[in-house]
Amino acid sequence: MVTYDGHIHTPFCPHGSMDELSEYIERAISNGFTGLTFTEHAPLPEDFTDPAPTRDSCMKADDFNAYIESLIKVQEIYKKKITINIGLEVDYIIGYESSSKRLLDEIGPYLDDSILSVHFLQKEKKYYCMDYSAETFKEIVKEFGGLHHVYDSYFQTVTASILSDLGIYKPKRIGHITLVNKFQKKFDKLPDYSNQMLDILNLVKEKNYELDYNGAGVVKPDCGEPYPPSWVVKEAQKRKIPLVYGSDAHTAKGIGQGLDGMLLRDVTFSSPL
Ligand SMILES: [Zn+2]
Ligand SMILES: [Zn+2]
Repeated sequence: MVTYDGHIHTPFCPHGSMDELSEYIERAISNGFTGLTFTEHAPLPEDFTDPAPTRDSCMKADDFNAYIESLIKVQEIYKKKITINIGLEVDYIIGYESSSKRLLDEIGPYLDDSILSVHFLQKEKKYYCMDYSAETFKEIVKEFGGLHHVYDSYFQTVTASILSDLGIYKPKRIGHITLVNKFQKKFDKLPDYSNQMLDILNLVKEKNYELDYNGAGVVKPDCGEPYPPSWVVKEAQKRKIPLVYGSDAHTAKGIGQGLDGMLLRDVTFSSPL
């Protein structure tokens, strides 16, 4: 049974929708969820320029207080019906560890639960937003000199995120660890990343982290599978790595998305640690 959704966006997301927090919550309650975490994209480090063409990857730093305040409000309103945890989806950006740590030291005390994700790749001091669109992804493939270089870079960055020192408020859950597959159907042949993935799972286990078992990929037409896919989920289960379902909803309707394409029977779903 899936009763917790640990990855939900909000109207504070500049690339999401203006659906109200209450709409997400009511939807979660009517879908049978007993708990959820709102995980808006954390403000980017001040000295980092958002490489997404529309520069709208993350919430504005100025909105942070309003974000927390409105979550505390709904926590109170809905406390008899559903557990609401306050969180963030924090970006891991190579080379920005110390500013990310500073940011987390400052905002971490307000958080119950959060996710560490890789959306940005780096090559020769330049940064790329890898999940923006199929077109920009293809440009990245060209820039990196082939799809397997993009896969290598992505999994190396995920590995670095797990190993990074981001202080005591470092998120415990690693976000959508196969996001690089988002546009996989646009390519004839995909690189074999199984060895890198097994190394990553061993590291996640060693660090006592948990995984975001994310349904968004199922509904993305060029992906068609969850992040991560079933074989990875089975390997994670073998290692007793906690799996927390995440809809990654950017609209209220997105709550619960992807579950029909995910392993449900053989998987024990967790609530955040
Ligand atoms: Zn988003
Ligand atoms: Zn994400």
